[in-house]
Amino acid sequence: MREASLKFLEELLAAPSPSGYEQPAQRVFRSYLAPFCSVTSDVMGNVFGCIEGAGENRPRVMLVGHSDEIGLQVRYVDDDGFLYFAAIGGVDPHITAGLRVHVHAAKGRLNGVIGKRPIHLMEGKDRDSVVKLEAQYIDIGATDKKEALEMVRVGDPITFAVTMERLANDRITCRGLDDKAGSFVVAEVLRRVSELPDKLAIDLYGVSSVQEEVGLRGGTTSSYTVKPDVGICVEVDFATDQPDVEKKHNGEVGLGKGAILPRGANINPVLFDLLSETAEKEQIPVQYTGIARATGTDANVMQISRGGVATALVKLPLRYMHTPVETLSLADLDSAVELLVAALKRITDKDVFVPR
Ligand SMILES: [Zn+2]
Repeated sequence: MREASLKFLEELLAAPSPSGYEQPAQRVFRSYLAPFCSVTSDVMGNVFGCIEGAGENRPRVMLVGHSDEIGLQVRYVDDDGFLYFAAIGGVDPHITAGLRVHVHAAKGRLNGVIGKRPIHLMEGKDRDSVVKLEAQYIDIGATDKKEALEMVRVGDPITFAVTMERLANDRITCRGLDDKAGSFVVAEVLRRVSELPDKLAIDLYGVSSVQEEVGLRGGTTSSYTVKPDVGICVEVDFATDQPDVEKKHNGEVGLGKGAILPRGANINPVLFDLLSETAEKEQIPVQYTGIARATGTDANVMQISRGGVATALVKLPLRYMHTPVETLSLADLDSAVELLVAALKRITDKDVFVPR
């Protein structure tokens, strides 16, 4: 991966962006795009990069990746200055206790820890059960409620205090790869398209959407705004090459083997064929899955926006989804960008996507 691109990915991941509080990440996205395409933002917090094509009757093509991440939110401060919190999105109570966190307060970032009763003091049955999220608490070092409330407000967002790290080979780990890896790919496709010698036959919109983890909300409004003929959602997917995930549940898909192209009701069959044939002709690695229902991604709301949109998903294999140690392969991001740029060159006519 290009060094400047990796630096952008690292900055995007470092920026806190729990659903509803995405603007630190959106600012990174906007400033990366600004030198090579026109950038607009909307009242929801979505960011749109646009590159116009050439020719008549250009199809409108929308790429979307969501920049919001799961996190926590301050709900209540007790008399001793401990913070109780709600989950933003699907937070697993198995992994929270004992973690360091950042509370993003008006005056700046505060360090905190999610405390836990020592194992020595736990009864047998408690050792085997999970402490519910609503019973867990954050210690920011405050000595009482008054002092804590001078530093934080109810509603402040919280992220896990981890940044991107390299693992062996080309693998990286971080919180929030779901789905800043996707909005990264969208930004890279815009950059690559802007560098092409000839304009494409489409108007291209690359969207960094918000509030996906709390109900596909930014994807819903941004699809309405862009009014695409063709939409491709770039989202992470469950890699099944970790020891405790069954291949029976999501097929045989793993890190470093390319983007995943699902088929099913949420996917326009003509657009799927275009992506699959592009991968084959350009010798770009891809993997396949079947999703026999509406997907839990922005592709779902994009497909049923207005009168319907020819929609596909390009998914990035990810281990340990919704933990602070989400892990993926950089090669899969690069090959997803290659695939999308090559596929966009092949889109010239919106009418071909009507299945017949
Ligand atoms: Zn996601």
